[in-house]
Amino acid sequence: MSHLFYQSRLARPELDRAEGIYMWDTSGKRYLDGSSGAMVSNIGHSNPAVLAAMRAQMEKSTFGYRLHFQTEASEALAAKTAELSPPGLSKVFFVSGGSEAVESTIKLARQYALAKGEAQRFKVISRMPSYHGATLGALAVTGYAPMSAPFDPMLMRMPKIPAPRAYLDGLDIDDVATGHHYADMLEQKIRDEGPETVLAFIVEPVGGASTGALVPPAGYMSRIREICDRYGVLLIHDEVMSGGGRTGKFWGAEHWQVVPDIICISKGFGGGYVPLGAMIAREDIVEAVLDMGGFVHGHTYAGNPLACAAGLAVLDEVERQGMIGNADRMGARLKSRLEALMQRFPFIGDVRGKGLLLAFELVSDRDSMAPLPKDLNAHARLVDLAYDRGLIIYSRRTRGGLEGDHFLVCPPMIVGEDGIDEIIEGLGAALE
Ligand code: PMP
Repeated sequence: MSHLFYQSRLARPELDRAEGIYMWDTSGKRYLDGSSGAMVSNIGHSNPAVLAAMRAQMEKSTFGYRLHFQTEASEALAAKTAELSPPGLSKVFFVSGGSEAVESTIKLARQYALAKGEAQRFKVISRMPSYHGATLGALAVTGYAPMSAPFDPMLMRMPKIPAPRAYLDGLDIDDVATGHHYADMLEQKIRDEGPETVLAFIVEPVGGASTGALVPPAGYMSRIREICDRYGVLLIHDEVMSGGGRTGKFWGAEHWQVVPDIICISKGFGGGYVPLGAMIAREDIVEAVLDMGGFVHGHTYAGNPLACAAGLAVLDEVERQGMIGNADRMGARLKSRLEALMQRFPFIGDVRGKGLLLAFELVSDRDSMAPLPKDLNAHARLVDLAYDRGLIIYSRRTRGGLEGDHFLVCPPMIVGEDGIDEIIEGLGAALE
């Protein structure tokens, strides 16, 4: 009997080792990591340069409490992160994961409003569907009922607007009018709530696990920025999954050249080597909060030297190996191969995403776009069938927030053409 528990009784093979895009279980069976875990192992497993950097840091010190010591590793990673961030976003606050990054952001935004004398601003508008984390604060802005419903009476009821699902609404994603149509729902919501009460809007520039890699229509992101500015609402980009290069740009929002006020990053930032995340904020926001007596927030492991040394080595490897360009090229290749599967299998309803943040969903048929029957359990069965064929993919029993099944196909950013062939072969056989 195992003494360990997670969210369900799911039994999985025991992991032995991992290298590059592959993982091996203790029976010796090899798997292609087609989802980088949970879109985490962006640079692949067992990268020698990262392991060496971690070893070197461990020889020096593994932990230095941030209120007792500054460390070279945390200063260097903060400097590098700021350098990669949009102009003006130059202040970096470290955390150990995505939920912590989102929590930190909400609290910083709130303290900034207080510093400006706007104590009535506390509402953080988000989207349905969305996923921003499992902690109670992050869950309050998460638009994914299966995860929030049991805790609903304990959550702040934060307002939500629909995320743009243009493909289901029969709208053209490349038409700027489509983007404006959905973005204007934010303006309406701000007005309905009372603009003086709205603190921030949080959005995943390219959607993640709950939306199945939803890409915003043309014109959406820039219109959102304009609306936030018009009402003095802070714009928060949750790039926990989309940040770090996976979409073919370092930040997902770079595809639309939109600059937020605060960004969250995690997952690929630590690359699966260490639990690591960050909040990157506009300098004047941070200065205003510090001037008012300090940011009332922090986590024990924040900015520890081992995590920061690993994070810095991950960023160096992304750069040295040109992984962002590879994510762009291999992402295009993988997406067109997934689209070819869609021609072969009429029950694939949609293929979407950017770079190597890709997803597809299953439907009964493309005319009705109705979900597959629930008792088919497609989200679990397809993952199991792929497992049997040595391929790991990531699924959710949802279809962009609706009833149904979607799957993320997000291999490490080092994947090559052979890896793409192998993914499509395994997936095709599983779908068959
Ligand atoms: N935000 C986004 C966009 C995410 O994808 C996730 C994790 N799936 C989180 C926040 C929460 O991150 P974590 O699980 O590391 O707390």
